[in-house]
Amino acid sequence: MNKINIALAGPRGKMGSEAINMIEQESSFQLVAFIDRVNNDSSAVPTYTEINECFDNQEIDVFLDLTNPETAKKHVQIALDYNIPSVIGTTGFSHDEIDQLKTRSKEQQVGIIIAPNFSIGAILMMKFSEMASTYFDDVEIIELHHQNKLDSPSGTSLKTAQMMKKNTKNKQEEPNQARGLFVNGIPIHSVRLPGLLAHQEVLFGKEGEGLSIRHDTFDRKSFMPGVKLALKQVTQLHELVYGLEHFIN
Ligand code: NAP
Repeated sequence: MNKINIALAGPRGKMGSEAINMIEQESSFQLVAFIDRVNNDSSAVPTYTEINECFDNQEIDVFLDLTNPETAKKHVQIALDYNIPSVIGTTGFSHDEIDQLKTRSKEQQVGIIIAPNFSIGAILMMKFSEMASTYFDDVEIIELHHQNKLDSPSGTSLKTAQMMKKNTKNKQEEPNQARGLFVNGIPIHSVRLPGLLAHQEVLFGKEGEGLSIRHDTFDRKSFMPGVKLALKQVTQLHELVYGLEHFIN
């Protein structure tokens, strides 16, 4: 069986180092290149500081980006220039940016997976929330992350609000009130504190009862089964898919 040749951007990062361990343990994967801001010659895997140079010199089946939103947005366009499928783990893409990438990937018939959350438990939280929103009109989201997270609200909370919007009551924003950011009429409250990793609670209320659906990430290892799933699925796709829930029944 041919192995899937993977190029990874962000290998020195917290997610990147977990991904290296996962890829090395998976017999159907081959790690063929790193894209990094610095070239660490001591690595057994060739490292490129220019993504074009990497794509010009290596046979890449899938490009995996675990850097930051600004870098990932540039990288995914360059991967498309080379018709290379991408798995993007960084959040922070706008609706317009996703739509534009979807159109371009469809025209070129190249797969892209942008996954705001690779955790299977978090995806189930989103799916359960979508299910509950059929029965509860009123909902609010509290998302809690470590203090270094660049974007707020989190990509996961935005995606959850998007999945629930057709069922829930569209609330009106109240100026000068501490009611969070309204996304699709759903208030999202963001907390950033040291000691946290990634957590989200979706709170539903109706007369006489409440329902809370909560997910907690305690270790970045929890993201790796989702990264593995995305790396395998993306080679079968012919356009961009946003969110791993499309691959989990
Ligand atoms: P991190 O530890 O800061 O790692 C990011 C890495 O990217 C760093 O090594 C950084 O290098 C490198 N980098 C920055 N610019 C680069 C460039 N132009 N080319 C190549 N590498 C570059 O962050 P992390 O915790 O691993 O998270 C990485 C990304 O994954 C973030 O966007 C985060 O939001 C996202 N994330 C996604 C999920 C999910 O489930 N989808 C889960 C967790 C995190 P320097 O240190 O030199 O800047």
